[in-house]
Amino acid sequence: MGKPTGFMEYQREVPAHRAPLERINDWDEFQCRLSDERLRMQGARCMDCGTPFCHSGMVINGMISGCPNHNLIPEWNDLVYRGLWKEALNRLLKTNSFPEFTGRVCPALCEGACAAGLYSAPVAAKSIEKAIIERAYEEGWMVPKPPARRTGKKVAVVGSGPAGLACADWLNKAGHLVTVFERADRPGGLLMYGIPNMKLDKKIVRRRIDLMAGEGVTFITSTEVGRDYPAGRLLKEFDAVVLCGGSTRPRDLPIEGRGLKGIHFAVEFLGANTKSLLDSGLKDGKFISAAGKDVIVIGGGDTGTDCVATSIRHKCRSVHQLEIMPRPPLGRAPDNPWPQFPRVLKVDYGQEEAKALFGADPRHYCITAKKFIGDECGRVKGVFTVNVEWVADGQGRLVPREIPGSGKVWPAQLVLLAMGFAGPEEGLLEQLGVERDERTNAKAEYGVFATNVRGVFVAGDMRRGQSLVIWAINEGRGAARECDRYLKGYAWPE
Ligand SMILES: Cc1cc2nc3c(=O)[nH]c(=O)nc-3n(C[C@H](O)[C@H](O)[C@H](O)COP(=O)(O)OP(=O)(O)OC[C@H]3O[C@@H](n4cnc5c(N)ncnc54)[C@H](O)[C@@H]3O)c2cc1C
Ligand code: SF4
Repeated sequence: MGKPTGFMEYQREVPAHRAPLERINDWDEFQCRLSDERLRMQGARCMDCGTPFCHSGMVINGMISGCPNHNLIPEWNDLVYRGLWKEALNRLLKTNSFPEFTGRVCPALCEGACAAGLYSAPVAAKSIEKAIIERAYEEGWMVPKPPARRTGKKVAVVGSGPAGLACADWLNKAGHLVTVFERADRPGGLLMYGIPNMKLDKKIVRRRIDLMAGEGVTFITSTEVGRDYPAGRLLKEFDAVVLCGGSTRPRDLPIEGRGLKGIHFAVEFLGANTKSLLDSGLKDGKFISAAGKDVIVIGGGDTGTDCVATSIRHKCRSVHQLEIMPRPPLGRAPDNPWPQFPRVLKVDYGQEEAKALFGADPRHYCITAKKFIGDECGRVKGVFTVNVEWVADGQGRLVPREIPGSGKVWPAQLVLLAMGFAGPEEGLLEQLGVERDERTNAKAEYGVFATNVRGVFVAGDMRRGQSLVIWAINEGRGAARECDRYLKGYAWPE
């Protein structure tokens, strides 16, 4: 703890966002940076608690509290306060393979559990995390460091999202020869073709992939294992396989009119947009345009927010985000005390932009779509919704009940379904003979990561279901450790 009185002297400060009405005219990142001096003050606010809940990653009441990756937050807060940036980097990289991703996109579960949040506002751990790694790149500390010795063992990693990348990075550092297979034309998984550029610039993803390639990881893109590359061949050509294929089946809304043109899954919309942006600056027209349209986004979560922000940059006429759940409270509810992650209303970047442009938050709660309405050409032209109230059923569970007479038609020429994912696709797992669990994810115990097929491991959303980037990194590292143990009898760096 660098400054014992820091938490009393300094207020929480996080980097400003660029002005909404300015940033909607481009696709650049919306977050600014704090100066080194201000970051030191934020580091000084950390009290180095005897029990640092921020890095505990405990399950409380069915929810994770603190960093799932057990990042050593009080240690790097102190090192940043003391100006020891390289030491802070070494501490950070001990637990987190890719702080440049989490420092941008993580919901900061650590901050929800920070003790400073009990009496005022939590320490700005996520901003400090990002600053440490960005400084490291600027100082030239992040250069390829290939392993000194190779084991001669070959590992295939299927999927190049954060789980696959973290896994490949670890296994390569342990000396194995790693090949990452990716069906998309660019590696990165949802870091590349899910999360939009304004939240995570694709140059940041590319920078890390280039670093890993420089350290000896081979990336094979535009190759779907199980279609372009027989799954069985993997088992013959590699000593072990780690499956990191994600949870890629989007949840559908099979109501009347679902077959109309103009209704798309959020990932189709977001992925095509990023690809066209990277290929041609959106000049090739190979994306689903929201320009001049009334857009309805179904789903009030982060993916829905990304759809709102992307539609606004296309210059949509209007955008609304519909959510069946009730609006979260402004402050913690009595059944959601510290150090649980606060389930409170937050205004994210997409909502900030919609408010600035259209004068109102685009989110509408306790509302559900009942049918899509089409025109004579088979294109969607509206969505019929009803409001719901949440009432207890016979078993004490809350269930939605429609409110009679609350029907409404919303004009919509583009509808985006952002209701989450229902597990890994059919194909690859079946070809390899990997069992699924009751939620249809690939079956493997957390911490062990081994499937029922010898030498085949699984990590990330493909195992745990749709989740977060930090969980994918955590699982990728864990599966790599177990795969390494399988190959050598012990795991690096034990
Ligand atoms: C739009 C959107 C926004 C999100 N925003 C955030 C956020 O802000 N913060 C956050 O923490 N989380 C966010 N998430 C969740 C997060 O992105 C995921 O939890 C995370 O990317 C999962 O990582 P993964 O490596 O398991 O899978 P993925 O990132 O899904 O990567 C899986 C990869 O495997 C490839 N693949 C699948 N099958 C094969 C095959 N047979 N052969 C070859 N390749 C294959 C896929 O093409 C894909 O590239 C978001 C998700 C979405 C959809
Ligand atoms: S990864 Fe997320 S939860 Fe962990 S320290 Fe970083 S911001 Fe906090």
